[in-house]
Amino acid sequence: MPCQLCSNDSLELVSSKDAKSSEPLNVSLCSTCGLIQQNFIPDEETLNRYYHHEYRQDYKGTYRPKSKHVYRAGKTALQRLNFLKSAGIKAGRLLDVGAGGGEFTYLAGKTGFAASGVEPNKGYSDYARKEYHCDIKTGNLNNITGQYDVITLFHVLEHLPSPQQAFNQAYQLLSKEGYLLIEVPWIEARDASPHNIYFKAHLYYFSIDTLMAAASQHFDAIMIDTGSNLKILFRAKQIPVKIRLPDTTSVAKIRTRLHQKGWLEYLFQGQGLLKPIKKLVERMRERKAGVYRPREILDQFLPISPPGRPVPVL
Ligand SMILES: [Zn+2]
Repeated sequence: MPCQLCSNDSLELVSSKDAKSSEPLNVSLCSTCGLIQQNFIPDEETLNRYYHHEYRQDYKGTYRPKSKHVYRAGKTALQRLNFLKSAGIKAGRLLDVGAGGGEFTYLAGKTGFAASGVEPNKGYSDYARKEYHCDIKTGNLNNITGQYDVITLFHVLEHLPSPQQAFNQAYQLLSKEGYLLIEVPWIEARDASPHNIYFKAHLYYFSIDTLMAAASQHFDAIMIDTGSNLKILFRAKQIPVKIRLPDTTSVAKIRTRLHQKGWLEYLFQGQGLLKPIKKLVERMRERKAGVYRPREILDQFLPISPPGRPVPVL
């Protein structure tokens, strides 16, 4: 399959095995634009079936979030809301695509957004409606109509068959100069264990340059945040323009980064040695969350409303 960003077919193999299952999985770097992608991209219908039923079961072993997932998702949701707040974005019509169990949508609603979401998995979207009374549809971007001021895609874009199509769809749904917040795993990160980089569900592995290129027809990047993940806040352009691909220096830089990745970098520069301790502390907090109802777990991250309701402290 040619590169999904620049259509060139000069691809360099960077991995041939799934990090989780060890099954064969070919992932390549495009020598022209630097996009890293699986060599075979499944069609939309196959992916839709997978995400409607099996995905959460495969990766989390469940059809609905457990307390520990709610706690983790709530904590992350708060960081994402703070990121939006730091850009001055605190209100408006918000759509969360791939809303999971609804934690971000619920907390966004509490902070002042008119928040709604869409989630392909039936178990998770049913759960979000039942537990938080959130406006979450079961489906994907294709099922959405209307106009939004902010659209968010957290760990969604790397699962979609065509990132450019997703950017185009988001652009159509956004109000004039609306905001799009994308978060994906960051291929340039130093703190990803080599056992946890390439796997079946991730069709694309973005760098800052390739994510910006994929968005470049419709969006300008206005804020970038990197850590284990890459967050880019985009603003819709007034008029779509021609795609702007990364140059050869950028491709060389990504190639070099891929060669540097490995156990040594992860353990010493990526703080891999400290990870078991950090995980242990987190697991203890998550266990404490188990005695609370999902909504109570989330409310402790934003103890502002409704008034008079006791807020558990974890
Ligand atoms: Zn390419």
